Amino acid sequence: MSEAAPGSGRVAVVTGAARGIGAATAVRLAREGFAVAVCDLDEAGCAATAGRVEEAGGRALAVGVDVSDAPAVEAAIARIAAELGPPVVLVNNAGIIRDNLLFRMSDDDWDSVMSVHLRGAFLMSRAAQRHMTDAGWGRIVNLSSVSALGNRGQANYSAAKAGLQGFTKTLAIELGRFGVTANAIAPGFIATEMTAATAARVGMDFEEFKQAAAKEIPVRRVGVPEDIAGTVAFLVSDDASFVSGQVIYVAGGPRA
Ligand code: NAP
Repeated sequence: MSEAAPGSGRVAVVTGAARGIGAATAVRLAREGFAVAVCDLDEAGCAATAGRVEEAGGRALAVGVDVSDAPAVEAAIARIAAELGPPVVLVNNAGIIRDNLLFRMSDDDWDSVMSVHLRGAFLMSRAAQRHMTDAGWGRIVNLSSVSALGNRGQANYSAAKAGLQGFTKTLAIELGRFGVTANAIAPGFIATEMTAATAARVGMDFEEFKQAAAKEIPVRRVGVPEDIAGTVAFLVSDDASFVSGQVIYVAGGPRA
């Protein structure tokens, strides 16, 4: 790792980093000079991403943590601080979908989506912010979605993703005086296991599903995880120190 790299050995935490957008973000942050705590439900499942972080020149720590479990989150942040260093970048990326039309949506569909996205981002941010305020520098990036604007079959997910936007703006207001910024990224269609699962649910081949989606996107392609990782890299950089409380739609158009 080059000493001139923007991360300069600072410690970043990425949740849901075993695969998809989180994995691409972890690797990109390593390239930017950050040490990366690769967090996901299953520690063994983090090994591949941790290996890619190391190949990219970063120190890596694989951490198994359910972001909706308060004691587990406290323990994970304490372990990261002890083994990797105080975390000053947090990317709240872990997510699930439990899609259903409102009349079929179960209590559990609602509660589990709120738990991972909203409670998870809250618990992780509360645990990590003390290291950022101590350092007088920090970055929080929350993964929202174009679904925050409303999406059929996603009453739970769209409410959580809209909630994350309000959460982000409040963190920006509370933490700005400590040199900490908070921003949200709202991706459009990104090709990952999450969108593959949506294709399977509606009975479509994933390639056909992506082609159909691309026709509706102004830049005429679906996104890839690296599209989001690049936006995270900007938001955690020193160049973005005056950008806070914003929601950046990364969707190949104003919304997908
Ligand atoms: P993904 O491929 O499904 O990856 C999500 C990761 O989060 C998985 O590794 C999953 O672990 C992990 N996770 C789930 N629950 C967790 C928990 N309680 N604690 C810790 N980790 C947990 O999803 P993705 O497509 O990369 O999406 C990443 C984020 O972007 C999500 O917040 C998603 O809502 C958002 N987003 C995605 C898109 C898109 O088009 N893909 C669009 C807009 C927003 P398991 O595999 O063990 O379940």
